Amino acid sequence: ERLVTAGADEIERAAEAALRPKRLDEFVGQQVVRDQLSLVLQAALARDAAPDHVLLSGPPGLGKTTLAMIISAELGTSLRVTSGPAIQHAGDLAAVLSSLEEGEVLFIDEIHRLARPAEELLYVAMEDFRVDVVVGKGAGASAIPLALPPFTVVGATTRSGLLPAPLRDRFGFTGHLDFYDASELERVILRSAGLLGVQIEHGAAHEIAGRSRGTPRIANRLLRRVRDWAQVRGDGVLDLRAARAALEVYEVDPIGLDRLDRAVLGALCRRFAGGPVGLSTLAMTVGEEPETVETVAEPYLVREGLVARTPRGRVATSAAWQHLGIEPPPGAWG
Ligand code: ADP
Repeated sequence: ERLVTAGADEIERAAEAALRPKRLDEFVGQQVVRDQLSLVLQAALARDAAPDHVLLSGPPGLGKTTLAMIISAELGTSLRVTSGPAIQHAGDLAAVLSSLEEGEVLFIDEIHRLARPAEELLYVAMEDFRVDVVVGKGAGASAIPLALPPFTVVGATTRSGLLPAPLRDRFGFTGHLDFYDASELERVILRSAGLLGVQIEHGAAHEIAGRSRGTPRIANRLLRRVRDWAQVRGDGVLDLRAARAALEVYEVDPIGLDRLDRAVLGALCRRFAGGPVGLSTLAMTVGEEPETVETVAEPYLVREGLVARTPRGRVATSAAWQHLGIEPPPGAWG
């Protein structure tokens, strides 16, 4: 498992739970989404009604699950959690929906991965607060409409473009979460350090923030690794020296590239003179599957402007040469 990946497994989710902001005003950054959401929630509270359904889109680790929890906390209702992949059949979703209580928030993570029949059932439930319970089989089957109490769906997706328009249209409010800037991540780190009860110096928070790829989940993870270093090899205080030394042990470089990212970038520049080179050739050179290079390493390299995709293949930009500290050969792309 990579230290700088934006996804999280069960064990990590447990470690994260303690660091989650519980109310909207504790949620760092994302000012626009926070303002908009705050209006939606306050208006619903004033009307004493369930707010419109909310769609949260954006890359993993930016706070979608956290916001869903905050929405239910701000509304003073309970949260039910499920996900697109967890719902195998429309019947599974019908069971969840028909057990909802008035005003509850239903969080559906990875909503773009719902199967089509479940999706169709969800449109009706969101629009008309009704599920059609199918009884019997084949030609004799009939649908009995079951009225649902008002509730709010909070859907989360990393790929809002994959959401079919009819489903997207059922959401009264869509919040798009973007990568955090370094000063916001610093605030996330300082806040988390406080919750973990560790002493951190500003320089260390700054250093960790710069290596966190714009992602609070990664920031919190790197913070925990720096804490380990400070406790085992340092004096327990998270200072700049501890941050740098710990992240060197874990091979996360000053802009958050890990070993695979650097291998890809290094191969592109050193072996292929900066490209253009095809994905599969590049992948073979670093001993990885093309898919791994394309989905794991490349998105961040492209986002950081180190690598560009061209019709003729991958190329290193001038920022790549600069980052590796080598002179581009004459005639290099860019
Ligand atoms: P997502 O659902 O988008 O993958 P999560 O909501 O699970 O992301 O957030 C991942 C971790 O990052 C959690 O531990 C959460 O507390 C932290 N986090 C995310 N956004 C923020 C934020 N704006 N302020 C503070 N911590 C945050």
